[in-house]
Amino acid sequence: MSSRRDFLQRLTGSAITLPFIGAYSAAAAKNTVIQSAPDAPVLKVAIMGLGSYGTRVAEAMQACKRAKLTGVISGTPSKIKAWQGRYNIAEKNCYNYENFDSIKDNPDIDVVYVITPNGLHHDQVIRVANAGKHVISEKPMTLNAKLGEEMVAACKKANVKLLVGYRMHFEPKTLEIIRQRKEGDFGKILFFQGLSGFIIGDPTQWRLNKQLSGGGAMMDIGIYSINGSRYMIGEEPVWVTAQETKTNPDKFKEGIDETIQFQLGFPGGAVASCLSTYSLNNLDRFFLDGTDGFAELFPSTGYGPIEGRTSKGELTQPHVTHQTVQMDEMAAILLDGKQPIVPVDGEEAVKDLKIIDAIYLAAKTGKKIDL
Ligand code: NDP
Repeated sequence: MSSRRDFLQRLTGSAITLPFIGAYSAAAAKNTVIQSAPDAPVLKVAIMGLGSYGTRVAEAMQACKRAKLTGVISGTPSKIKAWQGRYNIAEKNCYNYENFDSIKDNPDIDVVYVITPNGLHHDQVIRVANAGKHVISEKPMTLNAKLGEEMVAACKKANVKLLVGYRMHFEPKTLEIIRQRKEGDFGKILFFQGLSGFIIGDPTQWRLNKQLSGGGAMMDIGIYSINGSRYMIGEEPVWVTAQETKTNPDKFKEGIDETIQFQLGFPGGAVASCLSTYSLNNLDRFFLDGTDGFAELFPSTGYGPIEGRTSKGELTQPHVTHQTVQMDEMAAILLDGKQPIVPVDGEEAVKDLKIIDAIYLAAKTGKKIDL
């Protein structure tokens, strides 16, 4: 990673300011409060891929104090036009997939947020890095750990920062459980259960196309249980076992996992038992158990409100719009060098991708895979 000074130098003269919009809605969420001065610099963001999640991020950013949507990159001219009208985006800040390398000459853009299908992130992130801009990639960062490492290396070489859209890393109830676990409130952690799934619709969508998705439910939703097991337990797993089941091979073709059950072993003795599926709803629950107490989030990773309790009682941290908090916090990371409580950088994403690689191998071979 580049030093804080490098980032500040990179941004000197290019950061803009927005008026202070009053008390931050997450003010009560102590862990995520942005302590910004009224004239704190604002991160200028271009979104690449104006699809369903890109639209959600753009809407959420309207409430940001430290991030502003200033540019778009899209393959669909009609969307560009609509976004220009809705968000007041200058013509010179609009790009397509052929010409976006010239973003390097645009001082109105500090960072590009890549929100395209998974299989495109690798090349697009590297192109943005080579254009000298910071990058945020959506999850999964790419299709496997090797490609992920290439992205991390390219961003390092270009001296830009690579972040990943792990919005739960800024969610107040999640952070409160992490705080309590660090305080030792749950005693020795020995068990985590992660349930992640939904019934996927349209069989023609890119999520069911191996080249664009890299896999099935595991890449899309199972990754929440993988990432969640790591931040809830607070350790890195050392082994993986996995079992795959498929009830609809017409819809879930070769290489597209419908359901995978997997187990992760942690050095402190904890075991995680998780389910990832595209064939069941109501699966969005984390449960952490230790010798002195437990924590539960249900729902645990949806857009919210997240609900939860621990052995000490209900969690009462307020609901926040995840993407608003994420983008304000990412602005603080990129502009001020702030360290998030749970990392959101490319290395963090590579850890998840290594586990995904191992889960697929374990499911295929039936063997326990050491990490
Ligand atoms: P969508 O299909 O809704 O949007 C993807 C957009 O990418 C398209 O609208 C299109 O935008 C662009 N695109 C470029 N090339 C292609 C292509 N070959 N096929 C399809 N689209 C293309 O997907 P989502 O917005 O749901 O997902 C995008 C990314 O965001 C994924 O990586 C996904 O995992 C992640 N995501 C993360 C979530 C989170 O909570 N963190 C939630 C949902 C998704 P254009 O027309 O402008 O070029």
